[in-house]
Amino acid sequence: MVNGKTKIYGIIGNPVSHSLSPAMHNAAFEALKENRIYLPFPVEDVQAALMGLKALDIRGVSVTIPHKQSVMPFLDRIDPVAIKIGAVNTIDIQTEGATRLLCGSNTDWIGANRALESRVRLPQAQVVLLGAGGSARAIGFGLREAGAGILLCSRSEPKGKMLAGELDCPWFPMTALTSLRGEVLVNATPVGMSPRAEASPVPAAILPSFQVVMDIVYAPLKTRLLREAELAGCRTINGLEMLLYQGVAQFELWTGLAAPVDVMREALLDWAGIERG
Ligand code: NAP
Repeated sequence: MVNGKTKIYGIIGNPVSHSLSPAMHNAAFEALKENRIYLPFPVEDVQAALMGLKALDIRGVSVTIPHKQSVMPFLDRIDPVAIKIGAVNTIDIQTEGATRLLCGSNTDWIGANRALESRVRLPQAQVVLLGAGGSARAIGFGLREAGAGILLCSRSEPKGKMLAGELDCPWFPMTALTSLRGEVLVNATPVGMSPRAEASPVPAAILPSFQVVMDIVYAPLKTRLLREAELAGCRTINGLEMLLYQGVAQFELWTGLAAPVDVMREALLDWAGIERG
């Protein structure tokens, strides 16, 4: 029950009404009988909202679209990987004496790495990464942190080459996909997302050459890419796993407790109305 000692967390973004994070974090707090609550905060004025976090003694927030970059100038500290990625998805409000400090980090890359590490040893893996948008950036820098090799493949040449330059990896157009070899394929584009769920970002014929295929699209949970990858004998990772583990990393940062991962996964599946599979 909420009372005078309840610690408050939340998500800032616009919109936030569709976010799966409140269900995931509140289920975790409840499971561990923690007197904490996680709320959605629709935010337009980022600077005012961040000052409000300090003033209201809010302990931590997730940051989502469109504020992952715009929060950065107003933070007191930002962790080095989040600076490289150029985006913050997590703020931890730390107290030092009488001062409250807004500390930004990025758990999207941690989420992707933890999801991948459940199936593959990343330091030895060659990863074909599809996309050059925000998620591909976070995943790419995470793969670098883990010591994986990256082959970046994207539709847009300038954006792709720029990201590949930052990641210090080769870039290829989507048309080169048939000639690329690696252990892991990661789709970080929206191709295959509902309502265009009949689409796949790659021809099925190339899938047998990969051991592991991860799709970060989570609606539908089993995308065409994952269905075809299963048929090709690959181990597959669906998009909820990255979402789950970025939340797990936030929970652990904010509370210092081991996150109840299975409870959080169930909450995501229930809230999204997604069939298990
Ligand atoms: P974004 O910043 O808009 O980037 C999208 C990327 O996909 C761009 O590189 C874009 O290429 C490429 N793309 C779009 N349509 C394409 C097509 N038809 N063929 C080839 N490439 C195409 O988006 P994002 O934030 O990275 O998100 C990408 C997807 O990941 C979305 O579906 C989102 O829902 C999902 N997502 C999942 C998680 C998770 O935790 N599971 C987290 C974040 C996002 P151009 O540069 O050429 O336009």
